Amino acid sequence: MKIHDQLYIAGAWTPSLSSRKIDVINAATEEVIAQVPDGTAKDVALAVQAARKAFDGWSQTAAEQRAEFLRSIADGLAARSDEIARSITAEVGMPLKLSQRIQAGLPPQVMASYAKLLREFRFEEKIGDALVLFEPVGVAGCITPWNFPLHQMVAKVAPALAAGCTVVLKPSEVAPLTAFMLAEVIDSAGLPAGVFNLVCGTGPVAGEALACHPDTDMISFTGSTRAGKRVSELAAATVKRVALELGGKSAAIVLDDADFARAIKSTVSSCFLNSGQTCSAHTRLLVPEARYEEAARLAVEAAKTFNLGDPFDAKTRLGPLISEVQRERVRGYIRTGIEEGAQLLLGGPDQPPGFSKGYFVSPTVFGRVRPDMTIAQQEIFGPVLSILTYRDEEDAVRIANGTVYGLAGGVWSKDEARARRIARRLRAGSIDVNGGGFSIEAPFGGYKQSGYGREFGRFGLEEFLEVKTLQVAR
Ligand code: NAD
Repeated sequence: MKIHDQLYIAGAWTPSLSSRKIDVINAATEEVIAQVPDGTAKDVALAVQAARKAFDGWSQTAAEQRAEFLRSIADGLAARSDEIARSITAEVGMPLKLSQRIQAGLPPQVMASYAKLLREFRFEEKIGDALVLFEPVGVAGCITPWNFPLHQMVAKVAPALAAGCTVVLKPSEVAPLTAFMLAEVIDSAGLPAGVFNLVCGTGPVAGEALACHPDTDMISFTGSTRAGKRVSELAAATVKRVALELGGKSAAIVLDDADFARAIKSTVSSCFLNSGQTCSAHTRLLVPEARYEEAARLAVEAAKTFNLGDPFDAKTRLGPLISEVQRERVRGYIRTGIEEGAQLLLGGPDQPPGFSKGYFVSPTVFGRVRPDMTIAQQEIFGPVLSILTYRDEEDAVRIANGTVYGLAGGVWSKDEARARRIARRLRAGSIDVNGGGFSIEAPFGGYKQSGYGREFGRFGLEEFLEVKTLQVAR
């Protein structure tokens, strides 16, 4: 068992002021695989103080110098990708092949994309007689979730450092292990002391301390809508900038002229990625009423290929959920779906046969789901697909937009212009047209209660910048 008893503060591994530890659990075996410090508000205060102290120097560095550090961090992460993938597969339960490609594969690419952007980005611009400067916002508090742990840390830390901000990272206490690897890589890259700091701990203690601290200039938060609301309330007391990447209930609209086999197979894959623990998962499949039977059959066929198993086994397509709490939440939603009258086409709330250990939930498909049902409205965060029918395009758009969320979605049609027309009407931040994939340089973020602010690429960098106008006398 790996024991981390130190935090990374002011360029040094520092014992936490708390003697308490948080257990990190293997999602498939339920064994404790590591312990991390249960950091306190005082730990957070020391980290913020170190970040504050480092800000003046770091914010004045040349962009090219910051780019070199980012490139070195990207290389450091790439060199440890096998270890990163294995660690996340153990903590989170994502099948190893996918962890290698996504969980370990994306972070060095995102880090490197900011090194590249720094070469092109103009930190000043002339508007009339004025000179407009883009300056780092200050000390950035980054609070991240467990589902794509390192990816979400890097989505904040890379643009923050690129902008010239200093950082205090508070990763999820449920999957914190790669935060320590990131800190080790940053330490080896030789970043000046205090530019990056890591404090582990729970949301209500360490997370809230970071959101409240008067010397934190910004909070960039990814997680549940519930915790995001709390963070933004706390941050309001000191008028901090807040960026929120929250939950979703994304819809894939399959239009009548689409390639149904492809569209439905792809939607099921999107829904079940990481056992459904993906904020942008397409969890509602919207099909024309007249094609319901065909769509339901295709969805069940596709879902059956997601065999549950040991996430380290190359044949496994669906691993466990992250925790017992999450498994019970998801089972509760499945029971609610049945009680409210949705048709259970596959799976269900029971412990899957043959799995006495691990937080496994069977791949589950509901048909004849009505838009007002709980399973069509709330984020389940498990391998549960809801199939809904629509009468016409108007109805499809209305249903797709009919939740409090607005993170992502999809539209499928043989006629791309028609698909784009529908995509423009969806009130969500990212829409996949005919299965278009994730781009690490395009903006990602939500409408409505999925949050505000954008991550990745230029838009992600701009989140961490203040705008100053120099009115220059002629
Ligand atoms: P969570 O809200 O429980 O925790 C996220 C982070 O916030 C953790 O670090 C946690 O310790 C911290 N936190 C919790 N309560 C807090 C509080 N009161 N004050 C300060 N910090 C607090 O979310 P989770 O269960 O880790 O992640 C799943 C959620 O994240 C889902 O709702 C998912 O949709 C969302 N998510 C969104 C995106 C996105 O980009 N929009 C990406 C991934 C996950």
